[in-house]
Amino acid sequence: MVDGWPLRHDLVEVAQRCEAYGLVLRSQGNFSVRIPEGNRILITPTGRPYSTMRPGDIVEVELDGRVLRAPHAPSYELPVHLAAYRADPRIGACAHTEPPHINALYALNKSLPNVLGNFIYAFAGRGLAVGPRMKSGTPAFATANIEALGDRFGIVWPNHGLFCIGRTLEVAFIRSLHAEQAAQVYYLAIALNGREPLLLPNEEQEQYVRAAQADGWDAP
Ligand SMILES: [Zn+2]
Repeated sequence: MVDGWPLRHDLVEVAQRCEAYGLVLRSQGNFSVRIPEGNRILITPTGRPYSTMRPGDIVEVELDGRVLRAPHAPSYELPVHLAAYRADPRIGACAHTEPPHINALYALNKSLPNVLGNFIYAFAGRGLAVGPRMKSGTPAFATANIEALGDRFGIVWPNHGLFCIGRTLEVAFIRSLHAEQAAQVYYLAIALNGREPLLLPNEEQEQYVRAAQADGWDAP
């Protein structure tokens, strides 16, 4: 059995779940997980549809970028995944998705406010960072985005998608899902009446933040 086999299985499963929820289409996006006890990660390959992806298709890469086991080329966005793991040892997984409502909002230069409790909780009230408008996939893009991410847990790549970090793959997945759900609700509310919707009262927002802190969601 190859190293990290259960993690390879988890990566495929999460990628397929993201496709089922409409967070990615076909082979869009990319997902990675850190292999415990070692300077290595596993990442989805480039250009392979998730529907037929198997654990054996996952690519293993050293944190310095050296590709170890490569049935296929690693994701095009490998540099930003590596930069995240190198920046913070607490980061255990990264998920890059291309959710349509997030993309619609940020293509209009709008940002997602604290419109739903699940979103506030998943991001500990810190919301989403916004990355620079530049071509993705390069070391320069990786550096700029990890810098822009700061102490948040998700960053929007304008006109492209979302990049979420987590201590586990499940946390990165839940953050991606709740960000898109909040963006969808925000979008629908504006579409219904053309005005900014009401947000959760501050006191309730603070309750979600305190709950997130108590449950460890105020860290990657
Ligand atoms: Zn992408």
